[in-house]
Amino acid sequence: MSKPRKVHVKSFGCQMNVYDSHRMADTLAPAGFTETARLEEADLVILNTCHIREKAVEKVYSEIGRIREFKEEAARDGRSMMIAVAGCVAQAEGKEIIRRAGAVDLVVGSQNYHRLPQMLARVQDGEKVVDTEFPVEDKFDVLAAPRRDSIAKRGISAFVTVQEGCDKFCAFCVVPYTRGTEVSRPVEKIVTEVERLAAAGVREITLIGQNVNAYHGLASDGAPATLGKLLRRLAQVPGILRLRYTTSHPRDMDDTLIDAHAELPALMPYVHLPVQSGSDRVLAEMNRRHTREDYLGVIARLRAARADLVFTSDFIVGFPGETEADFRDTLTLVDEIGFAGAYTFIYSPRPGTPAADRPDQISPEVKSERLQRLQALITQHQRKFNAGFAGRELDVLLEKPGRLPGQLVGRSPYLQAVQVMAPANLIGSVQRVTVTEVGSNSLFGALADEARNPAFAAAGA
Ligand code: SAM
Ligand code: SF4
Repeated sequence: MSKPRKVHVKSFGCQMNVYDSHRMADTLAPAGFTETARLEEADLVILNTCHIREKAVEKVYSEIGRIREFKEEAARDGRSMMIAVAGCVAQAEGKEIIRRAGAVDLVVGSQNYHRLPQMLARVQDGEKVVDTEFPVEDKFDVLAAPRRDSIAKRGISAFVTVQEGCDKFCAFCVVPYTRGTEVSRPVEKIVTEVERLAAAGVREITLIGQNVNAYHGLASDGAPATLGKLLRRLAQVPGILRLRYTTSHPRDMDDTLIDAHAELPALMPYVHLPVQSGSDRVLAEMNRRHTREDYLGVIARLRAARADLVFTSDFIVGFPGETEADFRDTLTLVDEIGFAGAYTFIYSPRPGTPAADRPDQISPEVKSERLQRLQALITQHQRKFNAGFAGRELDVLLEKPGRLPGQLVGRSPYLQAVQVMAPANLIGSVQRVTVTEVGSNSLFGALADEARNPAFAAAGA
């Protein structure tokens, strides 16, 4: 039996990192590690990093500086604290991290964290370890399965990585370099993981991947499946009430996925579909390999399959060479589609990507002015979208206690947070809720038919 130790994992960036952080903790459990939310008592601190924007990298270095002080304090108390940097910054910067931040003991790339226990043993022997090679084995084959206690802590809604990496090479993006080439997990491995999650009380699964709809994992008949087929299979897992997926690429929206939206009630009517720009000229220079028209076509096909589908997106403003006219094309696209929300990013030159070397970079002032205009427009659409729910009924998956006593918080099919007065025994169930008030960050509602709800009556509420 290994000596009990504590690990504190801090995640930056996307949902894939959140998932990876959970799996790192699961991998370390057999080596005696339990998770702690308190950095100061940790024997091992892992920063699971993101490299998508410049500030994210600087944030990691300043975070290491902060942790170094805890490490020094632990040393004064006669304890040792190891610091590991994982994820995409680790992958991209490699041993530069140890050169720049000597307090770091271990740098582990995004494909290598299944080897963490062995690497830590080397660190304990006094070595500084850097492991960022893309391995020949698949980390998903080697990783420990999610543990029941850790699943229970993670609640009603869980992420499952089904696909990683990207072969698309958009001119601005580091993902193909930091996460490597596209790899999909086999269908049955995903089904087993989802069954395990469902048995532990998870009711909603979000399938994640850098290009999740490029999924092509092998099915049990040996043929590659599509994301649509995978979703059909997962909809049959007992206990799973809701399915979602993110992030999709417009080029990979195939008929099986569109049909799945028409046919699977468990598949939520909400699609995050990054477009980046509304200008064909910029889209071509970004190497997105789709036009504005293609994108609108995909949206139309999805809406024809399910009329209540809502869309969110990612946008980059200030890509090199973007003119005011290009930017206005982005604004008109937002108006044309009416997104329910969007992530907006200022273009950040990432070393090693083709766009970073272009001479026609946009000034920071223009970039931030465009960002503000775009955000204002998106906020306007988002408010309009939410305001449309006042007085309407929605199915809400109740997830956890809310801010006020007696209140629960859940999600609508469109991923809006909904606060409802309801008894705790309804956590994990989908309830019909009447929206009574639309707030700036969430909706407020009441159980639509309390009288017909036996669980509610039993709780004496
Ligand atoms: N695969 C997805 C796609 O094709 O849209 C997105 C993956 S990426 C991790 C998430 C978002 O980060 C992108 O959609 C893009 O908007 C943003 N992003 C990526 N590289 C960026 C850069 N160099 N500067 C600013 N934003 C960037
Ligand atoms: Fe990056 Fe997405 Fe483009 Fe791949 S498709 S290079 S992950 S933005």
